[in-house]
Amino acid sequence: MPYLRYKNSPCWCSHCGTQLNFKMKFYSTNKQAPLVDFREATILGQAPDKGLYFPEYIPAVPPSMCTNPGAYPKAEIAFEIMYPYTKEVISKSELQDIVQQTVDFKFPLVPVNEQVFSLELFHGPTMAFKDVGARFMSRCLAKFGQYIDSRIIVLVATSGDTGGAVAAGFANVPGIDVVILYPSKKVSEIQELQLLTGGENIRALEVIGNFDDCQRLVKQAFADKDLCQQVTISSANSINVARWLPQQFYYFFALQQWPIIEMPPVISVPSGNFGNICAGLLAKKSGLAVSHFIAACNSNDVIPRFLVDGNYSAQVAKATLSNAMDVGDPSNFVRILELYQHNLNALKKDMSSFSFDDHLTASCLKTIYSQYAYLPDPHGTIGFLGLQKYLQQHPEEKGIFLETAHPVKFKQVMEQLIDQDIEIPEQVQNLFKLPQRKTRIAPEYDILKSLLLEMR
Ligand SMILES: *Cc1c(COP(=O)(O)O)cnc(C)c1O
Repeated sequence: MPYLRYKNSPCWCSHCGTQLNFKMKFYSTNKQAPLVDFREATILGQAPDKGLYFPEYIPAVPPSMCTNPGAYPKAEIAFEIMYPYTKEVISKSELQDIVQQTVDFKFPLVPVNEQVFSLELFHGPTMAFKDVGARFMSRCLAKFGQYIDSRIIVLVATSGDTGGAVAAGFANVPGIDVVILYPSKKVSEIQELQLLTGGENIRALEVIGNFDDCQRLVKQAFADKDLCQQVTISSANSINVARWLPQQFYYFFALQQWPIIEMPPVISVPSGNFGNICAGLLAKKSGLAVSHFIAACNSNDVIPRFLVDGNYSAQVAKATLSNAMDVGDPSNFVRILELYQHNLNALKKDMSSFSFDDHLTASCLKTIYSQYAYLPDPHGTIGFLGLQKYLQQHPEEKGIFLETAHPVKFKQVMEQLIDQDIEIPEQVQNLFKLPQRKTRIAPEYDILKSLLLEMR
């Protein structure tokens, strides 16, 4: 099957008036599946050949928006980023509504010291950056669901933050039910609360097992032809294009607030599945001025090692303090390779990657708090460490780390580290007042299947 390599051409520019007329298609990174549009890619999630969908073209964001993002409202930037990808399947006014609702909270850039800023991505409904992708995706699926006769069941396994963001994104969305599988006793108290209070159309299944059991059950459901003939199931996995692409937004929002226009920042991204940093690299390809990216990892160091010797060897995930990044085989990394056309040297010019263990994370978190009176969470701390390491070698530069979750989400761990209580924000306190719903199940596929069939 012939596949186009992406062309880095300005395909849409509403400001200078250029509009190249072509349809945006997505191909599978395994190149054994048909091309699809944004709607099909969103509904399918993963390509039938098990590859990830990737756009044929990388659109250029209007140059004035890249050089002077501060002059534009957030929603307008978000619209310009997404429109080339969605123009065949979502109208302008619908997309305007979707992005408006998606970015309807703060993304403050907070100075931590002379060289380092924190981009706080935790001001959304579930206090993690995944809110952005989940909100965008849920609104797209709600729209696309109108073309499908039956209700859509969104099925997702979570080790923590994904489930909450997906539950909040889909709460009360007509035509859609969400089934979330989470490992019993392995998510934090607040994370679980977010899963159980999602509303009428959100069903939380507490699986008596671990995250791998949850993921296995979900995979079994997608592979079950009999089930798929009777119900429409869709995944809200982080590889979905409708979650991946909108993550570019806040890199532009960071630049809106960046004080030193003539010196682009280094941006450090705490990374697990590598979807977030891949969106940042895509934003750079689309025109955003970023001097360098750091993929900051915990002890799960597959990518830092890959960048050293070019050998990719997946591992079993190790448990760490930054649990949302405990990934031994990062699924989005193939998209980064695709973006750089598998040229490792070109990638290394734009991205470095470092790994830090729990011991360093704990001591650095305490230092940031005591020296700069700023309290990061364990994930943001890894981002800080990555940035600090790079800046030691490049003292003339300044940078940003992404603070991907609110520290309160890891309350217990945090309180042990800083030996202080962390106040629970009002939005979480309100969750304690809501009715909680959950079903406990043994990790057996037949049980899941009959639950799903009952939902028809
Ligand atoms: C999911 C998550 C990450 C990792 O993001 P990837 O896109 O998987 O690299 C980092 N921090 C937090 C708090 C997360 O929830």
